[in-house]
Amino acid sequence: MESATRIKDVVKLINNGEQKIVVLSAMSGTTNSLVEIADYFYKNNSSGALEKINLLEHKYIDVIHELYATEKQTSKALEIIHNIFEYLRSFSKSVFTIFEEKAILAQGELLSTNMFQLYLEEQGISSILISALDFMRIDKNSEPDTAFIAENLKRILKESPKADIYITQGYICRNFYGEIDNLQRGGSDYTASLIGAAIKAKEIQIWTDIDGMHNNDPRYVENTKPVPMLHFEEAAELAYFGAKILHPTCILPAKLNNIPVRLLNTMEPKAHGTLISNKSINGVIEAVAAKDGITAIKIKSSRMLLAHGFLRKVFEIFETHQTSIDMITTSEVGVSVTIDNNRRLAEIVNDLKKFGTVTVDKDMVIVCVVGDMPYQQVGFQAKIVSALKDIPIRMISYGGSNYNVSILVSAKDKKRTLNALSEAIFN
Ligand code: ASP
Ligand code: MG
Repeated sequence: MESATRIKDVVKLINNGEQKIVVLSAMSGTTNSLVEIADYFYKNNSSGALEKINLLEHKYIDVIHELYATEKQTSKALEIIHNIFEYLRSFSKSVFTIFEEKAILAQGELLSTNMFQLYLEEQGISSILISALDFMRIDKNSEPDTAFIAENLKRILKESPKADIYITQGYICRNFYGEIDNLQRGGSDYTASLIGAAIKAKEIQIWTDIDGMHNNDPRYVENTKPVPMLHFEEAAELAYFGAKILHPTCILPAKLNNIPVRLLNTMEPKAHGTLISNKSINGVIEAVAAKDGITAIKIKSSRMLLAHGFLRKVFEIFETHQTSIDMITTSEVGVSVTIDNNRRLAEIVNDLKKFGTVTVDKDMVIVCVVGDMPYQQVGFQAKIVSALKDIPIRMISYGGSNYNVSILVSAKDKKRTLNALSEAIFN
């Protein structure tokens, strides 16, 4: 939601007589501004922070004046946001650590949900605002505590007065120690999915301003189309490999509880969007996506020949350096892996040298082809590889699942690769 008009549009969408929990993200740009504000505080630049805070506050004041029709609701909203902005300003007087930062980041969703609920009230739509900080919790490993979430959310819903619409904040939560925390950037989708799982919802809907997951990246390929139906596995691959519309973690709670997820577009509410469920269309390639910033590492060693335990030793090094591996290909004398995080690359390479000759290729891209591709059915892999006959391919991987073929190419060949695949598969 980027404006008063968009808030009004969203209210029209949700006011359809079905009982629901509405999870709201911050208004667009807000969380980025809060990150900036926290950054000024970290750097001990209070006046920089205060300037940003005032700027943001003015944006909100403008939205409020446009949003509400009555004096009463306007002044209620002004008071709530005034308190939140005063709270933001109060950090100029305190020591600034990660705790203060997380408290600041949580204000975007508190602003949007409060304003939204006041608007519903003004429109005479019965709704209840429930605080995510009362039931959304992560554990010591920063993983959602699903038992706690389900128990407390259900209790709160039972104790609240009956309403058609319950509003809550996406993204924000408390951690194991009870402090304010969050589910990482873009985490509102995750909140929605966790809530859907907790109450065993009939359906989870993610509303954005895109009409679903597209069958290729519209920034590089013309005439991409939304994919009408995806299996949970297909959607998870696409979400991880660059389809920005859905946060990758969001699929799991829905999949575990078998709750369909629908991706819909607030700008085009009648459009079908993408339905993600446990059904797939047999033998159909659905989409292509790409993930940038990949590094390939090859370890070649004649000692690997006929030896057991070689892969374990290699993987252990990545584990020690807390770096996860995305793609793997092996031969009898070597193994190639990819990582998307170069933070510990130098240390990893250094340690791997014990086992063989190490080669590093940076600026690579994983292009991933997603669909229902059971191995007994012939032709998928051939179609994909032959589409790329003119493009240098660094790694190819199929067989980890029936839903994905991954190809590693140079960043400079990304656009060509995406287009060649679109041409061969969808045209
Ligand atoms: N407001 C948060 C963010 O910008 C969460 C979200 O939008 O999903 O990352
Ligand atoms: Mg978002």
